[in-house]
Amino acid sequence: MDFETRAIHGRQANPLLDDDVAPPIHLSTTFVRDPDGTYPKGYSYTRSGNPNRAALEQTLASLEGGAAAACFASGTAATMAVFQSLAAGDHVLVPEAAYYGTREMLRAIFPRWGLQYDFIDMTDLEAVRRAMRPNTRMLWLETPSNPTLRITDVAGVVALARAAGALVTADNTVATPLLQRLFALGCDLVVHSTTKFINGHSDVLGGVVVTRQDDDMFKRIRTIQVHGGAVPSAFDCWLALRGVKTLAHRMTAHCANAQAVAEFLATQPAVTAVHYPGLTTHPQHALARRQMTKFGGLLSFEVRGGQREALAVVAGCRVVGRATSLGGVESTIEQRASMEGPDTKTPPNLLRMSVGLESASDLIQDLGRALKVLA
Ligand SMILES: *Cc1c(COP(=O)(O)O)cnc(C)c1O
Repeated sequence: MDFETRAIHGRQANPLLDDDVAPPIHLSTTFVRDPDGTYPKGYSYTRSGNPNRAALEQTLASLEGGAAAACFASGTAATMAVFQSLAAGDHVLVPEAAYYGTREMLRAIFPRWGLQYDFIDMTDLEAVRRAMRPNTRMLWLETPSNPTLRITDVAGVVALARAAGALVTADNTVATPLLQRLFALGCDLVVHSTTKFINGHSDVLGGVVVTRQDDDMFKRIRTIQVHGGAVPSAFDCWLALRGVKTLAHRMTAHCANAQAVAEFLATQPAVTAVHYPGLTTHPQHALARRQMTKFGGLLSFEVRGGQREALAVVAGCRVVGRATSLGGVESTIEQRASMEGPDTKTPPNLLRMSVGLESASDLIQDLGRALKVLA
């Protein structure tokens, strides 16, 4: 079945969900046993398994083209599960351009667990090769990266990892499985913050780990999910499953709007750089074209000046919301460095924009007016 169909019908048959067109929400934490002590419908306690969570996991595994998926209470908890699946003394390579929360997690938590890591330029294959060590067990990718929209050569990194017997995990939050198929490019695990485009309506926090094979690695992830306990609620799973049904159509419109906004920003004298892989001026546009079908709904741009000028542009927006996060139907914009904290390498004049599903001309008009404060 095609992507759009799997987004709507991608879950497996389930006796607790199938009598309704829109599935019921199973809020119960516990399920009744048969007199012989068995659980006839397969569910015993909702941390171990819940019908709404199973439906979301099966749908997301199907959309990514993976064998199995485990949902978490946030994208951060999903990332955490992947690093927790490694052992003390293992080494991971992580892009210096990765989502700041991923870098912060490694820095704040994992040194005491004995996990070794290096932040490198993952877009430079020679730098990747040089950074590999005998104990490198995993390479982490995020492409396009948040918030600088850098593109990593996925097949190139996979080839280096394979040769060294290391796994490749990719954070596909920004692109979604509609725009790039990371298992087809050789990745072993895919992580999402389902908070973003997958749910798409700015009202659920969630995450997922999908694996290419239903193997020992997936068993480890499932164990961390169930025995670590950072599971999403049934209601959150129900909402995310409702959101994902329209993912293909939302993403197509996000991409068209982002392309229009990026092209408009590129014409503005107060804008000194636009970071969007769909622009032919993006340094990795050709690579993005090879491994993505479209270029996504996230972009960033730099304005003439510094933090003060960037904040003034945000303050001038009326339609585009002054808020963090991305992937919602409503557009949002933020001066990114102030969200990432004092150690950030994100330039102070950089604005990150999640382009929503309002009309492109209203968004362009709003940004044009906001940019006038720098004229
Ligand atoms: C938001 C985000 C995360 C973290 O997800 P949460 O759901 O906020 O915990 C991870 N990676 C990327 C690329 C993100 O944008």
